[in-house]
Amino acid sequence: MIYNAKMECMSREDMRKLQSERLQKIVKTCYEKVPFYTRKMDELGVKPEDIKSIDDIVKLPFTTKHDLRDEYPYGLQAVPQSEIRRVHASSGTTGKPVVATYTQNDLDHWAEGVARVLAAGGVGKEDVVQVSYGYGLFTGGLGAHDGANKVGAVQLPTSAGNSEKQTMLMQDLGSTVLACTPSYALHLAEVIENSDKVNLKDLKLRVGFFGAEPWTEGMRRELQSKLGIKAYDIYGLTEMSGPGVGGECDCQDGTHLWEDMFFPEIINPETLQPCAPGEFGELVFTSLCKEAMPIIRYRTRDLTRLNYGKCACGRTAVRMDRILGRSDDMLIVRGVNVFPSQIETVLTEFPVFTPQYFITIDRKGNEDSFDLDVELRTEFFSPNPSKQMPYIKPLYDRIVSLCGIKPNIHIKEPGAITRSIGKAKHVEDKRNFRG
Ligand SMILES: [Zn+2]
Repeated sequence: MIYNAKMECMSREDMRKLQSERLQKIVKTCYEKVPFYTRKMDELGVKPEDIKSIDDIVKLPFTTKHDLRDEYPYGLQAVPQSEIRRVHASSGTTGKPVVATYTQNDLDHWAEGVARVLAAGGVGKEDVVQVSYGYGLFTGGLGAHDGANKVGAVQLPTSAGNSEKQTMLMQDLGSTVLACTPSYALHLAEVIENSDKVNLKDLKLRVGFFGAEPWTEGMRRELQSKLGIKAYDIYGLTEMSGPGVGGECDCQDGTHLWEDMFFPEIINPETLQPCAPGEFGELVFTSLCKEAMPIIRYRTRDLTRLNYGKCACGRTAVRMDRILGRSDDMLIVRGVNVFPSQIETVLTEFPVFTPQYFITIDRKGNEDSFDLDVELRTEFFSPNPSKQMPYIKPLYDRIVSLCGIKPNIHIKEPGAITRSIGKAKHVEDKRNFRG
């Protein structure tokens, strides 16, 4: 189902016209109302009048996460405080978080972005949407909640955690839709598997919308088979609003981005120049509708590519490839670039392993070490190391050939690797603390 056919299926020509109009307006607002952008644009010698079409976006300055932290908390706000209806903040791992503010129109646009994704997965008035993203400053919970409200579905705000209770409610209250991080969905699937009260066959669960962390096709297969659902990607980031910057359609051949609201570019993260069409690079967004905190050319650090080809679903909205990784997440081990998601991809190729893993990186002498904890599924597990060996060798060979690093693999008992209820933590880099 297409929630807003006018916007999601607009001709390229009309979309560019709309994007050009909206960009001109947002640049004027930023230049006049936000001292940060006045200064940045003056430094580059760009005036709002120089922006005549969406192609002129390349003349504008970038905004980085660092800039958002410097302007903490309200430095980038373009409206008076009396127009603000809500504040969210991203989980800063160190130091100050990134704060996002919203007017009522911003909240409406955000809810529409999520509604478009839910509708693409067939969610409507008959559905019960269990929101198992955390509620709070994190945009996941309330974002999914407002989107479910917009499509007229029942909202079941279980939030994350209390997994036994929430799987019981899933069964008793007839949840048809699950929204959470993919790692938490996997954890819920395991709780259901081990429960004597909840039965997969008694669940009404039909679809799931998973986001807030990069995930793989292997994880999709795992979630679809374990939960008996169709699993869709929902993409977003707090700096643009939250979840619902885009999502997958039924074709599951790329994530459509709602480019009437969020203009995407792909740049080379080294040269900062635009990439050729179809080339991998860093995703950059400009919010075209945001009132409270419009952001120009925000560098997401997410690495992906864009496909402007026609989608079989009928939408013309550009499609984004699966996120290869966040450049911040990229590990450099013995000079080789590795993304944790590559390890997940390899693990899901081997049916004997669960998709759970934990990487520990350390430096011993002058050499980096890469230790990988993995779990065998219960039916394949034996505490006897000689019985584990036949499983280790093929996994080791595959990681060497795909990632170019030699891992020390440790097999753990099923369930031994810590499960997360929000965004998964897969890596500990001990080198950072040793200088
Ligand atoms: Zn499509």
